[in-house]
Amino acid sequence: MTVSIHTLGCKLNQTESETLAVVFRERGYEIIPENQKPNIVVVNTCTVTSMAEQKARGIIRNAAKNAACVLVCGCYARLDSEKIERLGDNVFAVDFKNRSTVFAEIEKRLQRLVPNFQPPTPNPQPPTPLSLHSRAFLKIQDGCDKSCAYCRVRLARGSSVSVNAREALGRLRLFEKAGYAEAVLTGVNLNLYQDGERDLAGLLKLFIKETEGIRLRLSSLEPEAVTSALADVLAHRRIRPHFHLSVQSGSDSVLRRMRRPYTAELVEEKAMLLRRVKDDPFLACDVIAGFPGETEADFERTYELCVSVGFAWIHAFPFSPRPGTEAFDLSGRVNDREIIRRVSRLTELARTGRRVYVNRCLERGGVIEAVVESHRGSLPENCVAAVSENYLKLLVHLPRGETYARGSLLSVRLTAPSIAPFDAEGQVTGSSEQR
Ligand code: SF4
Repeated sequence: MTVSIHTLGCKLNQTESETLAVVFRERGYEIIPENQKPNIVVVNTCTVTSMAEQKARGIIRNAAKNAACVLVCGCYARLDSEKIERLGDNVFAVDFKNRSTVFAEIEKRLQRLVPNFQPPTPNPQPPTPLSLHSRAFLKIQDGCDKSCAYCRVRLARGSSVSVNAREALGRLRLFEKAGYAEAVLTGVNLNLYQDGERDLAGLLKLFIKETEGIRLRLSSLEPEAVTSALADVLAHRRIRPHFHLSVQSGSDSVLRRMRRPYTAELVEEKAMLLRRVKDDPFLACDVIAGFPGETEADFERTYELCVSVGFAWIHAFPFSPRPGTEAFDLSGRVNDREIIRRVSRLTELARTGRRVYVNRCLERGGVIEAVVESHRGSLPENCVAAVSENYLKLLVHLPRGETYARGSLLSVRLTAPSIAPFDAEGQVTGSSEQR
């Protein structure tokens, strides 16, 4: 019985899809790519924007035509299961959190949908931890206790829960033993990590102390939670110089109405703190454009904050009114055309920010670390695609005859901004150096 997993949304969803792949394999199912006509398609959904939900419905409808059964999980499925199940007779919303019961339920339905269906024989050899990516994804936290006015994620995932520190360390060690050079720590709100006395800073210290050399990257941080204690740990050479701040706005009045517990001034302070403990880290941020009541002046404050911090990248999201959230009923909606204009101004600023950052890295020179990625499409001869410690997408020239497997750690000297067609996503060219 073959299964494919289609993942939408954040790194946490990607991490959970990988764990799901391991669970299916343990139960004897075979994981195959979606274009190879699987019996079962799992769609792991996102609810952050209405666009994400629309995309999920399209994927579900298409899968329902080709597969015997479509299992829909993730945030959207948790909040709108009935709506999702109306997309097809072979479409079911499932919550894999209840592993003990969910497979019995799934196999009961498969018996109805697949003639002579027999549950596969469980896999005697527990599969090795599987990461579909060249860098391992490690979930350390889930849910959120905050109440941001626009957020539906907390409604889908509930209050914050933290993975036991020893259990998380055990998985990290398995990844290190399996040869992964880097692990990306994922969660809904990493800063809410708490296992007994141990908070996020404490967990990072434990990871660094109790593993050999695996590098650690944090998927995102809340500005107000970047304390000096955390920054002191982030200074460690094994923590990647790449921080993604969930900023959302640069206008204090908009931040208040978003129920975000900080000011624009604090965001600047935290950016300076991160730059004090790391040598020119790649600072990125999330910003929502067009929150209800956001005036042109409010937007300009957001724009100015992004300019003054000098983010190397800005993920600009158009405000998306989410059912069940406080912002859904707020007055003062900004019209769509204006929202699009604001998003494109921020995206243009993001491209400038990245060019400036890349040029600074090139001027500084030196050798940086990078992890070899798989690459879709052709690359020039003797080249690999890689992601650098400071989150640059690299095209790395290798000495003739040398090859590196996906996930390998390289030392790279940056040489030039990449040229078309390899200049997608601000790619940079480099040459590998002996480690
Ligand atoms: S911090 Fe806010 S936006 Fe982030 S998950 Fe929690 S409630 Fe949602």
